[in-house]
Amino acid sequence: MIKQIIRLWILGVVVLSSCQKSEIEYVDKYHPFNEKLSIDTLQYEKIDDNDKQLILQLDELSSIVTNQSLRSFQTDELIQIRPTEGNMLKVTSYSAMPILNIQIYCRINNVDGLSEPFHLLSIDSLPGFGQFKYQPAFTRKKSTYKTVSGKYISFHQPKFATNDFEFTVDSDDEFFKMLKTIKAGWNISFSNYYWDGVNEAGNWREMSAIYAREWVVMMTNYAYIVSLPEFKEIMFNYKKVLGGNLHGNGGVSDIFTREHYEALYNQFFQNRTYVLGRTGMGGGLGGGTTLGADHWIFYSHYISREGWHTVIHEMSHCMGYSHNSNMTYGNHYGFADGCIPKLHSYLRRKNNLPYNDPDLLGFTKPENKKYLKLGIEPSFTKPDNSTNELDAYFKLNPI
Ligand SMILES: [Zn+2]
Repeated sequence: MIKQIIRLWILGVVVLSSCQKSEIEYVDKYHPFNEKLSIDTLQYEKIDDNDKQLILQLDELSSIVTNQSLRSFQTDELIQIRPTEGNMLKVTSYSAMPILNIQIYCRINNVDGLSEPFHLLSIDSLPGFGQFKYQPAFTRKKSTYKTVSGKYISFHQPKFATNDFEFTVDSDDEFFKMLKTIKAGWNISFSNYYWDGVNEAGNWREMSAIYAREWVVMMTNYAYIVSLPEFKEIMFNYKKVLGGNLHGNGGVSDIFTREHYEALYNQFFQNRTYVLGRTGMGGGLGGGTTLGADHWIFYSHYISREGWHTVIHEMSHCMGYSHNSNMTYGNHYGFADGCIPKLHSYLRRKNNLPYNDPDLLGFTKPENKKYLKLGIEPSFTKPDNSTNELDAYFKLNPI
């Protein structure tokens, strides 16, 4: 057995005080003789109640919902893994649905010759919005793991709160596989903005949990939609699919060229931050990182029409488009009016959306009425199941 001693150089002033000589790392290139692998195996139900909870539950205070250090995520990282105090790892699911059979892999950065992830943890299930903490074996003792290419690594890292660990998640769960196709990585958090804690005056309303988790559904669905090959097909054949072109802030003469469509398409996959709120002004508000939507949008988004029109109108503002561009309005071929509501409808009817069940989170259920400030408009719960241009196009041009 060849054993290499590698000193882990930890950069950054924040962690210098925790970098002691006891943190010497060992990497074994071959299977260590007579040692068991240290893959942690957990069953969610058996985790101590003090180490697990469900987040974004109906009674969660908006002061917690809007605390970005407690509630924020990336749309392409819906199972989030972070080192936390007490040498623990905190695993948080921003999936509204349970995910079964989760495998977590870890990679140690900044160690020469070791760039491969190793299998750290296996957990049987994680409920929707589930969160748990656990202490990896390697913080207690020298532990041995298998890397993805079949090598072995043994090490002891007594102080865990460093940025030198990178985590990836995998699962054979069909829903997780769907989430994993999301390429658009938007940073999502929530804000009460100028809601003063008492009054419902002005543009902003309280961002309570029942609204925040519908935002999770909307943003996940949208990030999924723009990551699909169908969306790419539309972006690069826009007029052919929808009967007209997009135009920019220069007005109707500012017709998008192929380069514009390409730039727009790529814009969806750039780092972007959305701080989400709830408005009370008839529609929504959008610009920069600010994005707000009215009460009625949080349940009408399931039926594809006006809810999506409004959200996409505001998100197009966030992406730099004004009312002069049909990214915000338009008609049957406008981006906000036509393209996304029609694509959402097409995918909803094909059951090709991560979240397609209006009852999943129970926003409109009578027992949850006490969490809502306004009523439910019945016509916003009735989906229009008629076909549109996309049905005809994708029938002739299957993906
Ligand atoms: Zn506007």
